[in-house]
Amino acid sequence: MSAPPVAPDPFDLVIFGGTGDLARRKLLPALLHRFADGQIAPGTRILGVARDEGLDDEGYRTTVRGWLQPQAGPQRLDAFLALLNYRALDVRHEAGWDEVARLILAPGDRVRVFYLATAPDIFVPICERLRGCGLNGPATRVVIEKPIGSDRASAAGINDAIGHCFDERQTYRIDHYLGKETVQNLTALRFANALFEPIWRAEHVDHVQITVAETVGVEGRAAYYDRAGAMRDMVQNHLLQLLCLVAMEPPSRLSADALRDEKLKVLRALRPIGAANAASLGVRGQYRAGAVDGQAVPGYPDELGAPSRTETFVALKAEVANWRWAGVPFYLRTGKRMPLRVSEIVVSFRAVPHSIFEGSTGPIHPNRLVLRLQPDESVTLWLTNKVPGPGGMRLRDVPLDMSFAETFGRQHHVDAYERLLMDVVRGNPMLFMRRDEVEAAWAWADPILAAWAASDDAPKPYTAGSWGPSAAVALIERDGRTWIDDVD
Ligand code: NAP
Repeated sequence: MSAPPVAPDPFDLVIFGGTGDLARRKLLPALLHRFADGQIAPGTRILGVARDEGLDDEGYRTTVRGWLQPQAGPQRLDAFLALLNYRALDVRHEAGWDEVARLILAPGDRVRVFYLATAPDIFVPICERLRGCGLNGPATRVVIEKPIGSDRASAAGINDAIGHCFDERQTYRIDHYLGKETVQNLTALRFANALFEPIWRAEHVDHVQITVAETVGVEGRAAYYDRAGAMRDMVQNHLLQLLCLVAMEPPSRLSADALRDEKLKVLRALRPIGAANAASLGVRGQYRAGAVDGQAVPGYPDELGAPSRTETFVALKAEVANWRWAGVPFYLRTGKRMPLRVSEIVVSFRAVPHSIFEGSTGPIHPNRLVLRLQPDESVTLWLTNKVPGPGGMRLRDVPLDMSFAETFGRQHHVDAYERLLMDVVRGNPMLFMRRDEVEAAWAWADPILAAWAASDDAPKPYTAGSWGPSAAVALIERDGRTWIDDVD
């Protein structure tokens, strides 16, 4: 077994939005786990920033203790909490910044990470203040959460404004899907084995399905979600990033820019979808009242408290128009209030050209490689095998578990945020999106959004707890294929 990586030197991390949902559910638990694994050295400082003036250092530690208590023993938690401080600050105003600057500048030249876990409309004011306060040193990095803009022009505007304050190499645009173990394993499977490469192309791959299904509705994020919708919230970033990793050419080496160059080529090779073909290649839906996990749930307009034309479901038939993939559909699907919470990529290979078996032996289904990202991470290759024993040739589909859990032993499951936060500290931008990728993804999404906005048709209703509108089923069944909903 390989040794754990050496812990980086003590660093400073400022979480703008230190009291928010992302900090509570993802960032602070991730930091606690890395600390417990010895990957965060004593002397590291984590500063939470938000407007709440009722909090001070102790009050913040007490709040965070309440969030993290179930996840660590008291001693470890105490040691972690000792790294935390808090400053109340409205980032839009001058007051309070000098105090943050004094605190951060004090130990001199160490890695400084500014994590912008706030609404995107204050990303730029934060960056401008950071620069104005002289906090942009040689080892400064800024982490930006999605969404980066709502179209190409606004994304470029944000990127320009941030670029005015920080170099591209200092800017870490996070897409936490890229930090998932299975997503990295896809790169290992493809490029560390000679087996898959010859068949990873149109001649052998029938189609690819990428599904990101959520059971939740809009929860507390209705105002944001109604402005965004599933296309902006999910497809433009997470689903396209996954598509890129499936479709990209082998980079010449595993370096941040080599990998991102290849992803960019995929985005630029996506066949455009716009006014002429959006209706035939895409389906938008919106959930109505139904039941998920046996619980009755309201429809989207009721949850929102108003009628809306925002889509909570998208299905698209995309194509990467290049030599490797021409003609291979990439079916993308994401939605809220689906029957299952599941994110997975299914690479479906072509059927055998001719069956030598009688019908009575059982069907021969095409092989498929299933990469599951959540809820559990796994890689499964579905093969057709002979059912052992007498009774002639009977065939059955069997899953080959390629996660190799036994080979690697029981390991602590490292959350994507754990990996990504430590990559920022170490200065490794490989799993973060470069500016041109973000803008290329918008350049593909914009005409689809424009076509939908110009259309008289509203998103098609679907019952909460179903796999979306029937039109989404028709989208794939027209091609003689079906959505794979039953993989386990
Ligand atoms: P949130 O719960 O609304 O938290 C926002 C945080 O920002 C709070 O701590 C808030 O505290 C602080 N804040 C707001 N205005 C401020 C100001 N003017 N000055 C200083 N602090 C301010 O939001 P969130 O869900 O954590 O999301 C944060 C970012 O992550 C968003 O860009 C979101 O799109 C992205 N994101 C979130 C998730 C998630 O799971 N939550 C997932 C993916 C991406 P005060 O109100 O006390 O100031």
